[in-house]
Amino acid sequence: MSTPVVKIENLVKRYKELVALDHFNLEIEEGEIFGLLGPNGSGKTTTINCILSLLSYDKGSIQLFGKEMHADSYDSKRQIGVVMQNVAVFEELNVYDNIDYFCGLYIRDKNIRRQYVKEAIEFVDLADYRKFYPKKLSGGLLRRLNIACGIAHKPKLIFMDEPTVAVDPQSRNKILEGIRLLNSQGATIIYTSHYMEEVEQICTRIAIIDKGRNLALGTKEELKQLIKKSEIITIEMFEISKEHLQAIKKLPHVYDVSFKDHKIQVLCSGGRHNLIHVLNYLQEQELTFGRVYSELPTLNDVFLEITGKELRD
Ligand code: ADP
Ligand code: MG
Repeated sequence: MSTPVVKIENLVKRYKELVALDHFNLEIEEGEIFGLLGPNGSGKTTTINCILSLLSYDKGSIQLFGKEMHADSYDSKRQIGVVMQNVAVFEELNVYDNIDYFCGLYIRDKNIRRQYVKEAIEFVDLADYRKFYPKKLSGGLLRRLNIACGIAHKPKLIFMDEPTVAVDPQSRNKILEGIRLLNSQGATIIYTSHYMEEVEQICTRIAIIDKGRNLALGTKEELKQLIKKSEIITIEMFEISKEHLQAIKKLPHVYDVSFKDHKIQVLCSGGRHNLIHVLNYLQEQELTFGRVYSELPTLNDVFLEITGKELRD
């Protein structure tokens, strides 16, 4: 086994009475795009701030690159890039100078730095805005600048805390593409979000967290296998009797059936021909129906089944 890039053991962080991280454990391997998925207030930012030694914690240990992490672990810090949840750039510096400033904290050589800043600007597609001051940038462009500032020095390990909140779809796609590209160039990425679609789209492994605890961990396929529900079949129908619903519920692999807003919803657990069984039944009974669709569970279903509440706010 290789040494994990990040290893957190039994981390406890309290803000006075509030337990923000409750014996939190995590291991991230080199080369991953690791997703921390949880609703607002679940402890994602607190986790990142503890890892970076920006916050002190009450209990537990944190290792980065196989070494205990402390506020003065400059060797480790040099290899890290951080894109904070709240945009942190200088209002009085233009786009180029902001990136140059942050890159300069790590890269002293002016020629190398010029090249790195240029690459970062191309990477987030801000070449046309090089001379713009942050005040003049839209929310999405500002987020892209924030990212460029965090990654220009080519770190091995990158933390991105909700980098897509409140950005337009075009910037959002650019950001997600960018994360994939950074990863393909060798960076390990830790990505937090409360948008399950994004996490499903880009992450190699995902930890689902709530109330400072790690509830489930795995690839998206593994997480979906944790839950009972494996298929949701919806059939539009004007009306249907209780008897028919009961009969559908007795079909193989069906564990729940409901009828609401002129739609039957059939929840299945396992099985490969569930839709065919349901349609055969409707046909035998000469029941007429409208549109039919079958969906696989989402990470929201996983979250719902584990916690009893929706992931979305
Ligand atoms: P997330 O990033 O997942 O939205 P946070 O880590 O910001 O969650 O917050 C976790 C919990 O800790 C929340 O209940 C939040 O209100 C609380 N919290 C965060 N920062 C502070 C702070 N500086 N002081 C007191 N409570 C805080
Ligand atoms: Mg946060």
